[in-house]
Amino acid sequence: MHFFQHKDGLLHCEEVMVEEIAREVGTPFYLYSYRTLVRHFRAFDSAFKELPHLVCYSAKANSNLAVLKTFINLGGGVDVVSGGELFRALRAGADPSKIVYSGVGKSEEEIRYALNEGVLMLNVESYQELHLIDGIASKLGTKAPISFRVNPDIDPQTHPYIATGVKQTKFGIDIDRALGWYRDAKELPHLEIRGVSCHIGSQLTEVGPFVEALRRVKELALQLRGEGIEVEYVDLGGGLGITYHQEEPPHPQEYAQAIIEEGKDLPCTYIFEPGRVIVGNAGILVTRVLYTKEGEKNFVVVDAAMNDLVRPTLYGAYQEIASVSEKGGDEKVADMVGPICESGDFLARDRLMPYFEPGDLVAVMSAGAYGFSMSSNYNSRPRVSEVLVRDGAFYLIRERESYEDLIQGEKIPPFLDE
Ligand SMILES: *Cc1c(COP(=O)(O)O)cnc(C)c1O
Repeated sequence: MHFFQHKDGLLHCEEVMVEEIAREVGTPFYLYSYRTLVRHFRAFDSAFKELPHLVCYSAKANSNLAVLKTFINLGGGVDVVSGGELFRALRAGADPSKIVYSGVGKSEEEIRYALNEGVLMLNVESYQELHLIDGIASKLGTKAPISFRVNPDIDPQTHPYIATGVKQTKFGIDIDRALGWYRDAKELPHLEIRGVSCHIGSQLTEVGPFVEALRRVKELALQLRGEGIEVEYVDLGGGLGITYHQEEPPHPQEYAQAIIEEGKDLPCTYIFEPGRVIVGNAGILVTRVLYTKEGEKNFVVVDAAMNDLVRPTLYGAYQEIASVSEKGGDEKVADMVGPICESGDFLARDRLMPYFEPGDLVAVMSAGAYGFSMSSNYNSRPRVSEVLVRDGAFYLIRERESYEDLIQGEKIPPFLDE
């Protein structure tokens, strides 16, 4: 449930008219509802209240400082996958002891940064990484808190690009070999084993694969305990899906019940890393129609493009299109496309939509996750602004980039000026 609704035909974010914000900040822009962010975080967190747990919001879904701070204020931790995300989390005020660091390619510098800041644990994904971490910790004169990210080989039935827990993917270590690796890790002097992790994929719409993953992780954890290897944390990753169109994902309550049931004979602190389910439907992308072209195929050209929201191009993802000011009347089938010089630059394809006209405002719904955070400057388009609504007021939480921002850090070597 979210707080983007039409009232008297006009789209509102909570109590604020979207049109009014567009007038003030220009288009395109991302718009988030604070009340929705809080509601979604709390719904997820409280679903696990009977289990010792920590919700580490997955920063990569939406890493704006204000969004991170919202969850930090609610007691959340953060799941980061790069030094840059760690920096953001710390800037937003995250408690380092609530930060988990995942990722298949952590650099030496990133590992040092994480250890110096005192993160809760590094989720290790390769044997070489394990030894590198041990070596770095030794130089720093500390013990590195780690867990292994295991690959439980479960097909989450989602888009192949976001399925991460099957053997063919680059993620994690083969669960069947994990026991041996834990034994080795136990012998390394500068490591402290904290737990077991997994993350099987994103936009999952069934609880089955999560339960199956936990079952396998639990088996491993109990084996480890049998050998005196302490498993204080079980990190089950993120991945719970949302409704973009007609999907019917389980409610966090249902997901939690299934996990609690499966996990009851494995007492430990459970970590969850939800991203999309918290922020996905808490944000929209607002864009303006520039032109319409009619012919064999109809096109609505808007001022937002694949560089602003890449999900349709990258995954063929469906994003609902809504009029900011309801038009009524006839509809037609058209593609909604951006100004970028690529045929893959579209926000919607062969979609039944109102007869939009130049100047109309359009809301691309469910754009709060993997929207701005995946945006780029392709075609030298400044990245758009981000706005947060709370209690009848709105706040600019990221300024639109300027042309000067686009060339920041670029240099012309002297020989070109000769
Ligand atoms: C992307 C990711 C998440 C978040 O996934 P969602 O589908 O957005 O919940 C959590 N953990 C890890 C390790 C990830 O890579």
